[in-house]
Amino acid sequence: MIDTLGYAATSADAPLAPFSFTRREPGPTDVRIDIMYCGVCHSDLHTARSEWPGTVYPCVPGHEIIGRVAATGTKAKGFKVGDVVGVGCMVDSCQQCASCADGLEQYCERGMTGTYNSPDKHTNGVTYGGYSKDIVVDQKFVLRISDKLDPAAAAPLLCAGITTWSPLRHWKVGKGSKVGVVGLGGLGHMAIKLAHALGAHVVLFTTSPSKKADALALGADEVVISKDADAMTARANTLDYIINTVAAPHNLDPFIAILKRDGVMTLVGAPAEPHPSPNVFGLIMGRRSVTGSLIGGIAETQEMLDFCAEHGITSEVEVIPMQKIDEAYERMLKSDVKYRFVIDMKSLSKSA
Ligand code: NAP
Ligand code: ZN
Repeated sequence: MIDTLGYAATSADAPLAPFSFTRREPGPTDVRIDIMYCGVCHSDLHTARSEWPGTVYPCVPGHEIIGRVAATGTKAKGFKVGDVVGVGCMVDSCQQCASCADGLEQYCERGMTGTYNSPDKHTNGVTYGGYSKDIVVDQKFVLRISDKLDPAAAAPLLCAGITTWSPLRHWKVGKGSKVGVVGLGGLGHMAIKLAHALGAHVVLFTTSPSKKADALALGADEVVISKDADAMTARANTLDYIINTVAAPHNLDPFIAILKRDGVMTLVGAPAEPHPSPNVFGLIMGRRSVTGSLIGGIAETQEMLDFCAEHGITSEVEVIPMQKIDEAYERMLKSDVKYRFVIDMKSLSKSA
């Protein structure tokens, strides 16, 4: 066993605090990674504070991991010591079901193993995530990171990037598509960058008028303040596709009305409480659909990372020390994040 250090939540309302635990010794197909940076996803907050059911304490969040390979198992031939690599939201899946065979391990029919707060078959406990010094992961779930990408700014690609890329690709967003992005946070700002790079015309819907200039600079063609009912009504029947990243329950009807006939809105935001049920007529009248999407498979994550390296796309980040995590969570709740917090793991040693 390898002794390590992380930051853990010990209850729904306790601040995160230093936590000593162990990682397994790398098995034949494993890679041991020294973590350099870990992004802060709103899902970390939902889990640490028990907003979703099922948090097991102590809980070490973090699933936007960038680090350097420190050791490899004898059969982990895909990686060598010193490589910069990434780990996202999953560290295992059954590799046998139809979804795994299709490269969509996130929909593993036996349940994928999340990077944190999932049953861990190696320890019989739960998995501990990236708010830690190091991690041991099977090579199948380790991603290659191009040296063209800044490692801190690349970390959020591992969740915010793939969670927006996967539905954009699935729904064939490209040149000529008119796409809405709802919410300008971690996921939303990546959705703007990726949809823009895919050639779409992008309209951002935000509750924060102060974010307008940033949205345009990130690649949005237009910005609509979603609290302005007249501005929303004026857009009726104009968009092919909407990706909704909002982390809180809200009325979906004004967005559904903005879809053209056969338009699709994908919900990726996962609020703790349900959205009010949409009015059925909004769906019937234009044969419109509301869908959902969960992160993305490993192959498409690598495809997204390679696309980002080729197009010079990374996240807009504010790098913080580990000790500021609770402050970062509070700021995230106030939509005061531009546009992703990333923890510099060097700071963790100061907690030892
Ligand atoms: P975030 O950085 O906090 O961004 C969420 C944005 O939603 C905010 O910046 C804000 O944008 C908007 N918003 C927040 N509260 C709102 C409210 N009450 N009404 C209207 N808009 C509000 O969070 P994130 O990390 O991007 O994550 C977003 C959600 O996606 C979370 O629920 C997270 O758990 C979920 N998620 C899902 C997946 C998946 O696989 N489906 C993966 C990762 C994360 P404006 O200021 O622009 O309005
Ligand atoms: Zn996430």
